Amino acid sequence: MDFTPPPKVEALRQTLRDFMRRELYPLEPALARDGFAALLPTLAEKRDKARQTGLFAAHLSEAHGGAGLSLTEFAAMSEELGKTPIGHYVFNCQAPDVGNMEILIEHGTEAQKAEFLAPLVAGRTRSCFTMTEPEHPGSNPTWLGTTARNDGDAWVIRGHKWFTTGFEGSAFTICMAVTNPEADAHARASMFLVPTDSPGLEHVSNLSIMGSRGGDWASHAEVMFHDVRVPHANLLGAEGMGFVIAQHRLGPGRIHHCMRWIGICERALDILCRHAATREIAPGKPLGTRQIVQQWIAESRAEIDAARFMVQHAAWKIETQGVYAAREEISLIKFTVARTLQRVLDRALQGLGGLGMTDDTPIAFWYSHERAARIYDGADEVHIEAVAKRILRGYGMRSPR
Ligand SMILES: Cc1cc2nc3c(=O)[nH]c(=O)nc-3n(C[C@H](O)[C@H](O)[C@H](O)COP(=O)(O)OP(=O)(O)OC[C@H]3O[C@@H](n4cnc5c(N)ncnc54)[C@H](O)[C@@H]3O)c2cc1C
Repeated sequence: MDFTPPPKVEALRQTLRDFMRRELYPLEPALARDGFAALLPTLAEKRDKARQTGLFAAHLSEAHGGAGLSLTEFAAMSEELGKTPIGHYVFNCQAPDVGNMEILIEHGTEAQKAEFLAPLVAGRTRSCFTMTEPEHPGSNPTWLGTTARNDGDAWVIRGHKWFTTGFEGSAFTICMAVTNPEADAHARASMFLVPTDSPGLEHVSNLSIMGSRGGDWASHAEVMFHDVRVPHANLLGAEGMGFVIAQHRLGPGRIHHCMRWIGICERALDILCRHAATREIAPGKPLGTRQIVQQWIAESRAEIDAARFMVQHAAWKIETQGVYAAREEISLIKFTVARTLQRVLDRALQGLGGLGMTDDTPIAFWYSHERAARIYDGADEVHIEAVAKRILRGYGMRSPR
């Protein structure tokens, strides 16, 4: 087996490392001080520079305006970009837009692609995804309260959503709503393209998350659909396909998230190691001479490397055998990498002492905001249950609890 990274991947990693050192890391103090929304004009300039690297929206095929990277190639890019909280945004491959682009390409009509996809890929607009509801468990997406009723020339959407990432400032949302409550659980819901300036679509507020309401892309909103009318042409895919499309969206999306988390781990470990090698706990005795700190470093190194191999393998399996064949690997990486991320961040923060609690490094930001990694993209427990059930089925167990 050859572990030498392909030259194309090495070259793109180097391009991104140089770009981030020059353009993005210097913005981190302002991001921590003033928040994401205040940085938008500067980020627009950085996006223009990112376009010149040829890696803007690079996950898409060249025909759709991207760089035609394969999933495994984009995984490497996602790891590099994950090393700063604004990396993915600047290169227009941030969640949830990246997933929305993919489902528009896969399931959108030509008219939908022209109206919604083209400006999104160009970075002129942003989008969001409205599925989760306060009154229903997000971990069971077949059970939704939001409905869409067919009324003359339009669908009429009524419902209550929350945790809509980046609603503020987005041009449209992809909304999941029940169109046939009598159908099988997996065929009840459909997806709709809804412009955010549609009459009846109310932005209730941004949720306060770990002490901050955030702003623009870096926010999570509560949203009400008060009989929002969208033309029939805004149905995405066939009626009843909502669940199937959502599942499709999640396979490659989990590779993107997991590699972003690995990027965060690498940056956190780098910050810890620099600190451990230079911070003296007594004259002439750096922190890194302590065995417990050495253990944090060695264990983090091992866990990150193991996690990366698992994700690369899952990406390879998706590429060669499809999302369905790789569903177990996708579940395994979701909870494994999310947990690795928590452990590595916790060790880095502890090793930095009081400094780790400040916003002088991005560790405190990630420590609070990335706790959510174990909840979004399918709560860890749901993935754990799915894997265990499949394994136990091989032992003849039919309905394990
Ligand atoms: C930062 C962030 C961003 C998000 N962005 C979006 C977005 O843009 N759009 C969107 O639609 N949603 C978004 N979400 C919502 C996310 O998808 C849901 O929070 C997630 O699916 C879990 O649903 P829930 O919060 O309703 O928790 P519930 O479904 O109520 O579950 C609560 C807890 O119960 C446990 N649990 C659930 N099921 C099982 C089970 N079968 N076995 C054992 N334990 C179980 C888990 O520990 C879980 O955390 C976001 C969430 C966060 C935190």
